[in-house]
Amino acid sequence: MVCECVFVGTELLMGQILNSNAQFIARRLTEIGVTAHYQVVVGDNPERAREAILTALSRSDVVITTGGLGPTQDDLTKEITAEALGLEMELVPEALETLKVAFVRLGCPMAVNNERQAYFARGARLLPNPNGTAEGSIIEKDGKAVINLPGPPREMKPMFTDYVKPYLLKRAGLCLKSVFLRLYGIGESDAEMRVMDLMKSENPTIAPYCGLGEVEFRLTASGKTEAEAQKTLEPMLENVRERFKEYIYSEDVDAFGSMEIAAVRALTESGMTVATAESITGGMIAEKLTSVAGASKVVLGGLITYCDEEKTALLGVKRETLEQFTAISAECAREMAYGARERTGADIAVSVTGVAGPGDFNGIPAGTVYLALADKRGIRVSPLHFTGDRERIRTLTALRALNEIRKSAAKG
Ligand code: ATP
Repeated sequence: MVCECVFVGTELLMGQILNSNAQFIARRLTEIGVTAHYQVVVGDNPERAREAILTALSRSDVVITTGGLGPTQDDLTKEITAEALGLEMELVPEALETLKVAFVRLGCPMAVNNERQAYFARGARLLPNPNGTAEGSIIEKDGKAVINLPGPPREMKPMFTDYVKPYLLKRAGLCLKSVFLRLYGIGESDAEMRVMDLMKSENPTIAPYCGLGEVEFRLTASGKTEAEAQKTLEPMLENVRERFKEYIYSEDVDAFGSMEIAAVRALTESGMTVATAESITGGMIAEKLTSVAGASKVVLGGLITYCDEEKTALLGVKRETLEQFTAISAECAREMAYGARERTGADIAVSVTGVAGPGDFNGIPAGTVYLALADKRGIRVSPLHFTGDRERIRTLTALRALNEIRKSAAKG
């Protein structure tokens, strides 16, 4: 099955907005094994948009458009599609009802021209839009299909995921299986280089995504049945697991994993509790942990001890330690972790102290961090060095701390 996308919008042509819909849809099509030979961007000009849709229909099985579904005069994609397919436009009473309800929800009166949004090509299948007023549609004719989607990404993306993807899979007679592997401790280019050979594969596919301090691999296979897709996926999955076994911190079937989820999961599975003592991250670690549903069973608490006095008062860090080594030291981190574990009774306590920058602090360069983890095996201090701006250094510190918590919990 060959698919072609036509992105409608003069602002796209003029460079006023980035065509991020193109990237989103192209990625999703690749994942589900749908071929695309062309992508077209066309302005809000009816003749040229019609020509773009007709050309796309002449060389593809399915044409997906985004944009031009709004109520204004230049929003003409649905009309042009109907014309290209030789179909009449007709009012869909249910769509008009949905529109009226949407306007009540928005708390504003519905203008007469909004009624245009309830007109669709005869026989169109409507795609609900819970995030806006423009419903999408799928129109089939003579073995081909045109799918009209709204332009705003926050409306288009869920519509694509919820309706278009299943439609395309069904049309192609395919089932999909995906696995997300998340890695910590490996650089993005290194990770990518190590799967270069696998990236040539078309089924299954492997797609790397790089986040701050993390890499994610999405492996997807398609097959006529779920079992066939799983069977196709398995050898590559095993291969990637083997190549990156020391870096993989989570393996999920959905796209919503994160280091904090992995840490809370490891704590829950081992029945252990955690406490944090944060200086440089100012509460970020505790914030991330508590953002995970179910954290209340494993997170006892967190102390933000930013100045020396509070490190002493709340965590029992010795004054002599601070005088002799300063707060940015392995010794201070060690006593912070010890104090947090002692005072909360948690199984695991993690502490971080360091310089976030910009610039050095009393001659200690920005990015210098000491992380200590106290558990039943003792206290281990890691001297770390991160580069980048303040936000990056703090985020990388929190990520590292969460990974240490996860590893300690996994050991039990
Ligand atoms: P609306 O009901 O908001 O008018 P629409 O379906 O008519 O939606 P457009 O008017 O074409 O869509 O675009 C609305 C906004 O959606 C644009 O201003 C832009 O911010 C965003 N948008 C449109 N097309 C794209 C695209 N291809 N990539 C990213 N953003 C887009």
